[in-house]
Amino acid sequence: MFKKILIANRGEIALRVIVACRELGIKTVAVYSEADENSLHVRFADEDVCIGPPRSADSYLNVPAIISAAEITGADAIHPGYGFLSESAYLAEVCEACHIRFIGPDPAVIKLMGDKSRAKRAMKKAGVPMLPGSDGPVDGEEKALKVAWDIGYPVIIKAVAGGGGRGMRIVKSPAEMGNALRTAQREAEAAFGVGDVYIEKYLVAPRHIEFQVLGDHHGNVVHLGERECSIQRRHQKLVEESPSPALSDKVRRKMGHLVVDAAKAVQYTNAGTFEFLMDTDGKFYFMEANTRLQVEHPVTEMVTGIDIVKEQIRIAAGERLSFKQSEVTFTGHSIECRINAEDPETFTPSPGVIHAWSVPGGPGVRIDTFAHSECTVSPYYDSMIAKIICHGRDRHEAIARMRRTLEMTVVEGIKTTVPMHLKILAEPDFTAGKLSTAFMDRFVVAPKPAGSGSLAEAS
Ligand code: ADP
Repeated sequence: MFKKILIANRGEIALRVIVACRELGIKTVAVYSEADENSLHVRFADEDVCIGPPRSADSYLNVPAIISAAEITGADAIHPGYGFLSESAYLAEVCEACHIRFIGPDPAVIKLMGDKSRAKRAMKKAGVPMLPGSDGPVDGEEKALKVAWDIGYPVIIKAVAGGGGRGMRIVKSPAEMGNALRTAQREAEAAFGVGDVYIEKYLVAPRHIEFQVLGDHHGNVVHLGERECSIQRRHQKLVEESPSPALSDKVRRKMGHLVVDAAKAVQYTNAGTFEFLMDTDGKFYFMEANTRLQVEHPVTEMVTGIDIVKEQIRIAAGERLSFKQSEVTFTGHSIECRINAEDPETFTPSPGVIHAWSVPGGPGVRIDTFAHSECTVSPYYDSMIAKIICHGRDRHEAIARMRRTLEMTVVEGIKTTVPMHLKILAEPDFTAGKLSTAFMDRFVVAPKPAGSGSLAEAS
């Protein structure tokens, strides 16, 4: 087992990894930017190293600085968390060259899945159902129009290197294609440094359902069931739950099997998520595989009782999975609300100092956060400040727990999305489990005159 793990991340996920390491008796090294000097992940790690100025590009994305920090402190492994370098095949390769274990899949698998259009080909070969679309990247308007003609409108243009919902454009008619293609390519180039895009059929109001897998280096792969992440704004998840209210045990078993076989086909190791869209007829279509820990992993942990981060560490250390598929059981229901430092009406970021912070505990409540009274929410990074995860014997109880937890949450000094979550929970469609990626459209207010801070752009 590892003696010391460096965590190449910040915020709640850095703390989450520290928690797992402490329970496993492994020492930790925090890295931090100048903006995070007083953060809890720095306080609770055994050692810490400043890796640069606040801008992510100069600190949390700075591979040489992170590798030097690992070498100076004698860390034998790096956990990348999510975001930042978590899906960087380059970091995984440099780790290999420096004899530091990267806690994640092999670089070749990260590369394969990181290229969404290659990933789709590999998954199609493994028998996973796909949305009709272009076979590989599409560069010119003529080719794009031909693909769209073949599959039928609406279509969606997506970045080959995509992530975080960026570089996507919905195209409803041929007239929109040229502009949409150029905008998507430009956005992809700016966000990922690669302008390649591909096209697939756009589903109207599908559900986003994803499967969690774990694979060791001895050929064992298991799935931990699914998460439903249909409540999204601008393709970004807001609320996640497990199990999905839309899945029967039979479908779960069938999809689980399929995903395990697909993971085996690409020799997948460590934790991964296979994302699907489910249409209104209950048909599944593969979207992408994420080669990292997901923000929403706690809902799976709550229903399976499996600590995914500890499993990631054990797998990376070469251990066999300690359980078989038949030993994975699902108990009750779990829901997660992502609490962001944002105005709940306009969704504009609300960084600043938190003057008062209190989130009630009680039965079935888990809070993953770096926030506390008098802490600063930095404008430099993602606005998520906490994840509230509630577990109940059934979905009804999980929702009731989430509601009372949100109602009793006190955050002063900054604005948060707590009121928005209460609105979501109060929707009859939510309580009835009638979810889709179009769910949030109902909260979009009609456009107001320019400059009035409306939600117009959220259409
Ligand atoms: P990213 O990697 O940028 O997060 P994804 O491929 O995971 O992008 O898609 C994110 C979200 O975008 C999905 O959860 C869904 O809401 C929407 N989306 C993506 N592809 C489609 C599609 N073909 N049809 C309908 N919605 C889609």
